[in-house]
Amino acid sequence: MSIQFGPDYVRALAPYQGGKPISEVAREFGLDEAKIVKLASNENPLGMPESAKQAMLRAMAESARYPDANGFDLKGAISAKYDVPQDWITLGNGSNDILELCAHAFVQPGQSVIFAEYSFAVYPLATQAVGGRANIVPSKDFGHDLPAMAKAIAEDTRLVFIANPNNPTGTFLQAGEIEAFLKQVPPHVVVVLDEAYNEYLAPEQQYDSIAWVRQYPNLIVSRTMSKAYGLAGLRVGFGISQPVITDLLNRIRQPFNVNTLAQAAAVAALNDTAFLKKSAELNAQGYRQLTQAFDAMGLLYVPSFGNFVLFKAGDDDQAGARVNLALLKQGIIVRPVGNYGLPQWLRVSIGLPEENAAFLAALKQVLA
Ligand SMILES: *Cc1c(COP(=O)(O)O)cnc(C)c1O
Repeated sequence: MSIQFGPDYVRALAPYQGGKPISEVAREFGLDEAKIVKLASNENPLGMPESAKQAMLRAMAESARYPDANGFDLKGAISAKYDVPQDWITLGNGSNDILELCAHAFVQPGQSVIFAEYSFAVYPLATQAVGGRANIVPSKDFGHDLPAMAKAIAEDTRLVFIANPNNPTGTFLQAGEIEAFLKQVPPHVVVVLDEAYNEYLAPEQQYDSIAWVRQYPNLIVSRTMSKAYGLAGLRVGFGISQPVITDLLNRIRQPFNVNTLAQAAAVAALNDTAFLKKSAELNAQGYRQLTQAFDAMGLLYVPSFGNFVLFKAGDDDQAGARVNLALLKQGIIVRPVGNYGLPQWLRVSIGLPEENAAFLAALKQVLA
């Protein structure tokens, strides 16, 4: 018998499946890279903000030196934007890093972590990587059933993940629902409120989650620069929590987890409100374009508050994979969500108007 390395729970991990890269699809299907439309990873179709590009170019000269381990300028920008002290901020190599740090800091093997059935794929991965026990609460109308999640909290529960808006379904929890939930969570259970898509919410949908952080020492709000800020390739995210949590996360965080270029770009992007506004507007317009076409086609979809839409590809359990493959052959990359337990569905990111149009034209052909 060959030697087995590592704990059972590590060997049993299924790697994260990301959106297919453009270069891979070009190779696999013999397509021209320039004609491929990627709507698979909820990236910003506008690309990175010019302000961030310029900041990165300026920072390049310092690349022989280690990054600022404390991220002074970036924390300064976050602190100013969200009106929190700098020691309430944890920087992450993407918000993925923040989610993993929470699992490492708060969960021992065998302890339970709660999240919703149709929620972000990183939650089960982060849980299993530390030997935690996933307590997956059935979704309600494709979203979080918070009352059921509150009931699921047990003696051994250490962590709860909530995504709002949720990925891959795009559902949204109202402030009142979250507040009612937080009131029921015992003080020793840490709640991660993952707001990766917050910047896409309309002003009337916004709520003040930082006020909850002030009220609840067991709450951490996580944000990313990967979506509306257009910096997915640079890997920057951050958590906001009271120092009692921040302090622990910073002990296990790699000291240089956010590199020099990423820090510089993130500062510029955080202050680039014009770019953020343009991104949100383009997204709202693209959402109307996609959903109006889905309505006209009689396609079922889940109303979304993010920069993507989950739509039903067909009624059988091969539908998602089948339609995905047919779209790939036409150079359109969307995201299959069979691994999320949604084999009849596909998730499409909202792109530029012409990208949305190319996707819709291909989809019509595929479904005809
Ligand atoms: C995209 C996404 C993230 C962000 O990941 P990064 O590591 O910051 O790129 C976090 N949470 C959810 C729910 C997401 O969809």
